Amino acid sequence: MVKHCDSADDWEERKERIIGLGERSFHKSYYPQLKQNLDRLERFHTLLDHTSDFVVLVTLPDGLITDANAAFGRLIGKPVEALIGKSFESLGLGADAVKVLDILHRDMVFRRDPRQLPNHSVITKYDTNNTFIWLDLSFRIAVLDGDCYGVMVGRDVTERKRNEEMMTALLTEKAALLDNALVGIISVKDRRIISCNRRFEEMMGYTPGSAIGHSTRILYESDETFTSFGTEAYRALNLGLQFAATIMLVRANGEPFWCELTGRAFDSENPEKGSIWIFTDVNDRKLAEDRAVFLSHHDTLTELPNHQLLKDRLEQAIMLADQGHNVIALMVIDIDRFKTINDSLGYGIGNQLLIDVAKRLKGCVREIDTVSRQGGDEFILLLPNLPNPDNCVTLVGELMAQISQPFFIMDKELALSVSVGIALYPDDGNDFESLMKKADMAMYRAKSAGRNTYRFFNEEMNDEATEQLNISVGLRKALENNQFQLYYQPQLKIRGGALIGAEALIRWNHPEFGMVSPARFIPVAEESGLIIPIGDWVMQEACREVVKWAQAGMKNPVVAVNLSALQFTHGDIEDSVARAIRDSGIAPEMLELELTESIMIRDTENVLATVKRLKSMGVRLSIDDFGTGYSSLSYLKRFAVDKLKIDQAFIRELVTNQDDAAIVRAIIQMACSLGLRTIAEGVETADVLDKLKLYRCDEVQGYYLGRPMPADDFMAYLLRHLGGLNSAD
Ligand code: C2E
Ligand code: MG
Ligand code: MG
Repeated sequence: MVKHCDSADDWEERKERIIGLGERSFHKSYYPQLKQNLDRLERFHTLLDHTSDFVVLVTLPDGLITDANAAFGRLIGKPVEALIGKSFESLGLGADAVKVLDILHRDMVFRRDPRQLPNHSVITKYDTNNTFIWLDLSFRIAVLDGDCYGVMVGRDVTERKRNEEMMTALLTEKAALLDNALVGIISVKDRRIISCNRRFEEMMGYTPGSAIGHSTRILYESDETFTSFGTEAYRALNLGLQFAATIMLVRANGEPFWCELTGRAFDSENPEKGSIWIFTDVNDRKLAEDRAVFLSHHDTLTELPNHQLLKDRLEQAIMLADQGHNVIALMVIDIDRFKTINDSLGYGIGNQLLIDVAKRLKGCVREIDTVSRQGGDEFILLLPNLPNPDNCVTLVGELMAQISQPFFIMDKELALSVSVGIALYPDDGNDFESLMKKADMAMYRAKSAGRNTYRFFNEEMNDEATEQLNISVGLRKALENNQFQLYYQPQLKIRGGALIGAEALIRWNHPEFGMVSPARFIPVAEESGLIIPIGDWVMQEACREVVKWAQAGMKNPVVAVNLSALQFTHGDIEDSVARAIRDSGIAPEMLELELTESIMIRDTENVLATVKRLKSMGVRLSIDDFGTGYSSLSYLKRFAVDKLKIDQAFIRELVTNQDDAAIVRAIIQMACSLGLRTIAEGVETADVLDKLKLYRCDEVQGYYLGRPMPADDFMAYLLRHLGGLNSAD
């Protein structure tokens, strides 16, 4: 009878071949050709075991079960293994099911191509010992290695069948069912409630009879849901289908709740003229489900994203960072001595404290950042898309300052501090595990350094960060303690060598570090916004100084002042310039503003308007470090600047580097054709000066002609220069 199975061994082997797993005690090594496929099959098997549909595989034509999934095992209340080799008929799925398999097999023998066979479906009543349930079974044929199998996929449709029965009862006016039903029932005509049962009124909160006659609009939260739900539902009813959906409705008192709705038309040709609707209150179930989904990604206490969600977000951030060449920071934040608080004040206060800390941390970060709690007193911050690792130094300072503010919990004032470890992507690692490990190690270093501090995983970043912090703390006091000083570097005409004036260059006389270069502290001042008052001071001071040069006998002296982009975007630069001119009493053309290309490129229209107003005040404008940015000629024309200051990077090797020479010549020619003057900065040798003369550059500045010097020295330089010129006259 069993055509393909000549022996027990043969039988085992076939089972292996077909389903890869058989009775789950197979020997992979026997079938090397199948090895690769086994993993896939195993995964597929696991998947099948997780679906709620029943799946049964039967050999044909003998009708023996070769496998079934876990859902089927649960249905019949037996382990799946016990079914293998039993006949399909013995399952008790009804004569129709057995017949369908038979028909399918016969068709198969006849046509030889299973893909041409239709999918047969059977609705059957199944006896599960104590109750009957309805099953919807569908059958297909599959051919594996020349052998023929029947595949049955089924599902429990008892609920649907009951609803249908109820509908049929209602449609055939067995209305006695109505009031005793456990679900709410209404009949509707032209979207008005014609009749309803008691349960419906209870569920919706209407007094007996009060809902009758109303539009079904009263059941919905808004006109939009009423309209869109209606369109969708009546379209289905019109096709002769039953319509089912889970939707948020509102009770008579306005309270929203989740409801399962099933509707059917009396006449599908004309569903608006009569339909029946069944309401099941599924609010508790739906909320519990939603909550379960939320909790699977969040921490129960603080409701912050949990480990899994953080990991997902980090992986996304890494993909984006790779596209944009940005940095990601992962910070582990551990509360110092939290255990003491927990032990001495109790878990209630400890928990409340964690909730409050979570809130403060969230208050410190951007919308795109993630604050996560991994359990215990440890929080993790994910900061994607950082243009620069230095950005997290400012944040960690802000965050520690916030945490150090006292917490008030149940009449208690608590002081906290945190230890923070920081790891950066891509420098410290390129996946979640390695970044977490490194941030953790850094956090332990912060702890052992005495707590209430932070550490980068990368030691170099630590040194840089400490210096940056020292600078930014010191900068706040530098202005009031008069620690700034302006140096002046001469600017001269290349033809004849007349002194035009000087560029004012700021110096910081730090009580500890000595003279600090602006290259070091200007970026920090920009980040903290301190550049605005500092820039204001520079403007005032430079204008006061140029007055002295005029008094000393210099004709039309000009002082050049550097401007930062931030002064343009956040400060009131016009006001600052106007005040400096007014207070010092200079002619506006004695002041020259050095703008960088980065100022011009950013937010062009506003900048353009500001530059135009500055220009109309009479001050001069030049573009500093020209050639390093991306200004186009059209920009320069629109901004109406007076002078281009060629960046020293092109000047330094002017004599030896052909490329630099070509660039400088091109800049000078271009400037000349636009009617702009040129000044070369960084002139260190006579050779360079000669070359610039040859190229017809207008002005020069550099160590060869004079280093930046304190105001008094510059005055001496100026007097010498005037004297020199006078004696030469
Ligand atoms: P910058 O405006 O391009 O200034 C020129 C820099 O080159 C100055 O450095 C100057 O000392 C240096 N330098 C001049 N001649 C030579 C030379 O022949 N050889 C070499 N190797 N270097 C030369 P410094 O004073 O350190 O200033 C650096 C930058 O700091 C300035 O670049 C400017 O962007 C900024 N800065 C300086 N003072 C201020 C200020 O008051 N406000 C603002 N916003 N930025 C300032
Ligand atoms: Mg400059
Ligand atoms: Mg420059």
